[in-house]
Amino acid sequence: MTQTKVLLDESEIPTHWYNVVSDFPNPPAPPLGPDGQPIGPEALAPLFPMALIEQEVSVERWIKIPEEVREIYQMWRPSPLYRAHRLEKALGTPAKIFYKYEGISPAGSHKPNTAVAQAYYNRQSGINKLTTETGAGQWGCALALAGQMFGISVRVFMVKVSYDQKPFRRSMMQTWGADVFASPTDITNAGRSILADDPDSPGSLGIAISEAVEEAASRDDTNYALGSVLNHVLLHQTVIGQEAQKQFAKIGEYPDMIFAPCGGGSNFGGVAFPFFADNAAGKNVRLVAVEPSSCPTLTRGHYAYDFGDTLGMTPLLLQYTLGHDFIPPSIHAGGLRYHGDSALVSQMYKEGLIEAVAVPQIATFEAGITFARAEGIIPAPESNHAIRAVIDEALRCKESAEEKTLFFNLSGHGHFDMASYDMYFSGELVDYEYPEVEIERALHNLPKVAAG
Ligand SMILES: *Cc1c(COP(=O)(O)O)cnc(C)c1O
Repeated sequence: MTQTKVLLDESEIPTHWYNVVSDFPNPPAPPLGPDGQPIGPEALAPLFPMALIEQEVSVERWIKIPEEVREIYQMWRPSPLYRAHRLEKALGTPAKIFYKYEGISPAGSHKPNTAVAQAYYNRQSGINKLTTETGAGQWGCALALAGQMFGISVRVFMVKVSYDQKPFRRSMMQTWGADVFASPTDITNAGRSILADDPDSPGSLGIAISEAVEEAASRDDTNYALGSVLNHVLLHQTVIGQEAQKQFAKIGEYPDMIFAPCGGGSNFGGVAFPFFADNAAGKNVRLVAVEPSSCPTLTRGHYAYDFGDTLGMTPLLLQYTLGHDFIPPSIHAGGLRYHGDSALVSQMYKEGLIEAVAVPQIATFEAGITFARAEGIIPAPESNHAIRAVIDEALRCKESAEEKTLFFNLSGHGHFDMASYDMYFSGELVDYEYPEVEIERALHNLPKVAAG
């Protein structure tokens, strides 16, 4: 009998998070303030607890995971590593396909890995209210759950188009005790200013971030939590890749290529960074971020300092960006509709340490359905992006008769995304290539600072 699932014991949950900066060939570019000068930790203090700010700028290789956080991880971690025997057979590929399944968390994705850590450090510093944004609702659910565990009340600004498309994600957040608003709202200055220009605004992650940041910055008892992009968020997600390394070691396998969907970069960083450490030590595993052609941040964006939000309230980060005023097409992978990308992932892409590909929407649903029919699990639309890229590679291996080992992060399940699958079945989904003129236009609206 060949093994399908590789399981670890709870005692094998990682004890430390891995900080990829410790293996960077060049130091990371500093965040800048509105005056174009590097900011110090105090600039972030109105929004984040000091422990997270320290992680944001840390160059330590290993950061200890607090016992309280590891105990909560035990509810669903270690997550299983699967060998996709049935998908390999369906494709007729000589490639071996493995995936790590993060959909077993209570919220259904990888996002609680950082939500729990962020709620913990906020509670430690005496904070009892958090604001945040959410696109498809995965992050809002994760933080609502984590807030509930530490007695923190959570207010979520949910991108309006998703609020309308995914009502049960809202119900889940409410079940875990969060207040949820369709963004743009009329309860913040940021929201009101957007509505004044466009009363029918579908919202965007950038706008929802502006609203959440404004609320947190204007109240002493309230902090802000971000579900991706920032260094500390990617740090917390490295439990995924570390577990995968142990699981591969158990069965004497090792990946040639790793794929993950890439929105803000957190599940990609989570799975790929620990393997980057292997590369730094002499291995040669290709790390591939997969993004939508409709929001092609890494593959077609500008590498420049830009804001993290639409109204320009956050510090400037050097990143690949489509422009902070980017209003994404209403594609269905809500979690991948962000204008920018993690500064760490961006720098690694710029320096040729990782790869990126963009895939069109309809092909991602085709891939997700092929996967579900072979492996059973119905993937989140975001995860379908990685599956598309893996299937494409597995089919190339079939042509060339190569026995590569392919590994991807199945970042979440799609149980609350069935309306999107329905649109695929009824032929209502469209492919949307982000137009070149919009990419050019974004360049003109970038904040003016000396480029890094
Ligand atoms: C949020 C999300 C993503 C993308 O976000 P990253 O920050 O790039 O990880 C991918 N998959 C799922 C299921 C998500 O919820």
